[in-house]
Amino acid sequence: MFLTFDVEPDAPPYQTNSYKGVEKGLPWILDLLDDEDVQATFFTVADLAEKHPDRIKEIVKRGHELASHGYGHVRLDKLSRQEAVSNIRKSVSILSHFSIIKSFRAPNLQPPPITPSDYTSLGITVDSSIAAYKKGRPKHPFAWDSLIVVPATSTSSTIRLPRTLALKYTLPANRDFHALFYHPWEFVEIQKKPLYRPDIWVHTGGYAREMLRTVVREAKKRGLVFHVMNEAPSLVEC
Ligand SMILES: [Zn+2]
Repeated sequence: MFLTFDVEPDAPPYQTNSYKGVEKGLPWILDLLDDEDVQATFFTVADLAEKHPDRIKEIVKRGHELASHGYGHVRLDKLSRQEAVSNIRKSVSILSHFSIIKSFRAPNLQPPPITPSDYTSLGITVDSSIAAYKKGRPKHPFAWDSLIVVPATSTSSTIRLPRTLALKYTLPANRDFHALFYHPWEFVEIQKKPLYRPDIWVHTGGYAREMLRTVVREAKKRGLVFHVMNEAPSLVEC
């Protein structure tokens, strides 16, 4: 079981200059994880780390894994191989001031056009850029040459469905592997605006906070063990 958070500006691409998630959602998440005694992985946009270094230090101080979510929250699949490698290299270089960076997730779960050896040259051993819930995508972790790929198993907004459906889609009873991902901005209220997709604002804030606690407690009740992403190479049978 992997619990992960993508630390980025609020509700991209709509609110690129708003950071309520990092200012209010992230401290709440860290307190919840302390209360529940579980560790998580925080895929962080590096330019955000430059703007909010104290928030990022707190993630590391509380014993969680800091990982890369690229630089600038741009679609890396639209870049050339060289441009994508350079974007990730820049992010790893900045985030390395806070902790050793071993894991990566592409913005929008759109993998960049790069190879396992490119990842290795960047010091990345685990990639979590694939969405298992999309049709035809791998559902379980696998080795791709030197890289371990851990697909994300449920899209973040399922946690904001009515409780029974949220649990059914987030932690399906017939599956033993889960890699969940959320965003700090989901745990503060995002105001509905005419152009916003509903999954950006529906049940953000208090409802999402209550449901994240419910999901974590349900996983513990089922005896699932929480790992951070950089442990994946020792967990995946190749
Ligand atoms: Zn993102």
